[in-house]
Amino acid sequence: MSIEVRGLTKHYNGFKAVHNVSAKLETGSLTALLGPSGSGKSTLLRMIAGLEIPDAGEIHLTGREATYASAKERNVGFVFQHYALFKHMTVFENIAFGLRVRKQGEKEIQDRVFELLDLIQLTGYEKRYPSQLSGGQRQRVAVARALAPRPEVLLLDEPFGALDAKVREELREWILRLHEETNMTTLFVTHDQQEAMEVASRILIMNHGEIEQDGTPIEIFDEPATHFIAQFVGETNFIDTEISEKGLAVWGPFRFSVNPHLSVRQKIRIYFRPNDVYVTAQFETLQVRAKIAKTRFKGTVIEYKLDIGEDKYISAQVPKGVALASGFKEGQEVYAAITAFHVFPIQP
Ligand code: ADP
Ligand code: MG
Repeated sequence: MSIEVRGLTKHYNGFKAVHNVSAKLETGSLTALLGPSGSGKSTLLRMIAGLEIPDAGEIHLTGREATYASAKERNVGFVFQHYALFKHMTVFENIAFGLRVRKQGEKEIQDRVFELLDLIQLTGYEKRYPSQLSGGQRQRVAVARALAPRPEVLLLDEPFGALDAKVREELREWILRLHEETNMTTLFVTHDQQEAMEVASRILIMNHGEIEQDGTPIEIFDEPATHFIAQFVGETNFIDTEISEKGLAVWGPFRFSVNPHLSVRQKIRIYFRPNDVYVTAQFETLQVRAKIAKTRFKGTVIEYKLDIGEDKYISAQVPKGVALASGFKEGQEVYAAITAFHVFPIQP
């Protein structure tokens, strides 16, 4: 089932929880809805699920208008972060719940529950109670419970938000495999950009109730559309300066070729990622002199705080192997160049 929202809006006492949101999710796609806490993700999801009535706009499910259809008519499966399972029910009964509500026969229920137990890799766990499961297993049961009545759309609202990093990592892989097997149109909400990038082929980024960018993970990472996205997705340096002459901005010793349409004196913010700072021990080309002021080990990369003079600092990340081979250490003089950056005007 495809999902299309047009101009969807929900205000609470004049506060724009969701404002004029439009997007189309194709049948069988897996899309992440990414944004900071309070950006309107849950409100948008709840409107799609039929748990919240929009103030304005439309929802279309496979071309049918469903803006005011009941949650039941929409045939949508929903998993919340804190979708507590029924504690007094076994795993079997938790998964069977939606089927019993629909008054399905015992044989049908059995078959479906065992099929789902297999899908969530918990065959043999049917007699356990939620308290006898790990957090990750419980969320898998919650997904199975949502899938039991064969919904056409799966909406996941920060389903792994309460779990620790290692378990989240496993569940991300699991959700990808589940999606490959079921091919259900899935909308996955998260505030974790890493999770969004790993799980989804497309990401919608929300901020203050609006979608600020809609693109593939690579597009969002390499071509951020706004200030907000440049600093929200991935690590970044940012510096404030102005256009000094047509097509040129200067900050400390660095010179940036910028869009010649920006007018001279326009204030700008330049964003560049620590791993787009190229650092060498010997001068190569177009680099500036810098001094390693601080070193921070980050696992596969080493981060350097570079002192470039005039009380200005930037952060650079170098793959560990390169850093070791170059013998970088604190206090050392090095050379640095910024190889990729994004420029956004600052509105006065
Ligand atoms: P997210 O899921 O991205 O964290 P939400 O959709 O839950 O964001 O909330 C968006 C904003 O709308 C928040 O500021 C929240 O306080 C507000 N909000 C959500 N639901 C209600 C409600 N029922 N009444 C008043 N304000 C609400
Ligand atoms: Mg939320």
